[in-house]
Amino acid sequence: MSEPVPVALQIRDSARAPTAATLEVQVLAPGARLQRLAFRLVVAWGLALFSLFIPLLHFVLVPGFLLAGPVLAWLAGRATVRVISTSVACPKCTGAAAIEPDTTGWPAAMRCLACGTTFSAVPSAAG
Ligand SMILES: [Zn+2]
Repeated sequence: MSEPVPVALQIRDSARAPTAATLEVQVLAPGARLQRLAFRLVVAWGLALFSLFIPLLHFVLVPGFLLAGPVLAWLAGRATVRVISTSVACPKCTGAAAIEPDTTGWPAAMRCLACGTTFSAVPSAAG
C-alpha cells in the first residue's frame, strides 16, 4: 500500500463556476491494478464455472459471466487512484458531500446529501 497523497481538484457542476478542492488519494501501483483486474476476472469466470451445474439457467449465466469477466476486469484495471478522503465541500450549499467509499479514477461523480446536487471532480493539473 502506498502513502496517501493530496491531489488538487476542480469541483464542477453545470450551474456554477468550478471550485477548487483537495482530496487525499492513494495511487494504485501497476501491480495493485493488475491484482484488482485479475481478481475480477477470476471471480467472474469462477461464477461461470459454477453456473454450469444450474439447469436451464446455465444457458444464460455461463456466457454472461464469461463475457462479464473481461469487461469487469477492464473497468477495474482502468482505476489509477483510490480516494481516501470521505467528504468534500458541496459547490452549492458548501455542506459536506460524502464520497462513495470505493471511488477510483477521474472524473469522480459525487452527490451532496444535504441539497441533492450532483457534481464531478477532476484533477486541476494534468497528471
Ligand atoms: Zn449541497
